[in-house]
Amino acid sequence: MPDLHIVTYPHPALLRPARPLVRIDEELRGIVRQMFALMYEAKGVGLAANQVNLPYRLFVMNLSADPAKPEEEHVFINPVLSRPKGSEEAEEGCLSLPGLYAPVRRPAQISINAYNLEGEEVSARLEGLAARVVQHETDHLDGILFIDRLSPTVRMALQEPIKEFEIIYHSKQCRREIPDNEAIIRQLEVLEQLRT
Ligand code: ZN
Repeated sequence: MPDLHIVTYPHPALLRPARPLVRIDEELRGIVRQMFALMYEAKGVGLAANQVNLPYRLFVMNLSADPAKPEEEHVFINPVLSRPKGSEEAEEGCLSLPGLYAPVRRPAQISINAYNLEGEEVSARLEGLAARVVQHETDHLDGILFIDRLSPTVRMALQEPIKEFEIIYHSKQCRREIPDNEAIIRQLEVLEQLRT
């Protein structure tokens, strides 16, 4: 497993639905450890596997953002959300769109069903920040970013900074600092065959 790093919009891994995992093994536990480390380093509260260029339905979460509180760490494998209720607006950001923050309206409560790293089924009814984070992260696994959930006026106001991410990304590709999209997608397809 190569060293993982967080990829930024518009990296193709972020725009492509991730595949369900079929097994949990030592390599996957290593991936999860690296994902937590990257999340803490970036001061985030959640990180989805496709944000580190892995096409798997898995995300990690620690609402305290504090590596000294491992008891608040959660791993969600193949999560399924259901029974959305209510509606709440709050500001969101994303480690794949660093520095960009905007209000996003989402259901206030949600149920999640998933597997943890021990392969046990877990379910919870969530509200507040936890409900928001699991919806944001499950969106990632479906290839959806929080900028896809903005109201039309907010989206218009953020048009330029979003375009800026695209310009920077493509200029890095032109300078060969990032592989071209075809090469990235070929690598994702290989990883999909490996574990899904
Ligand atoms: Zn995000």
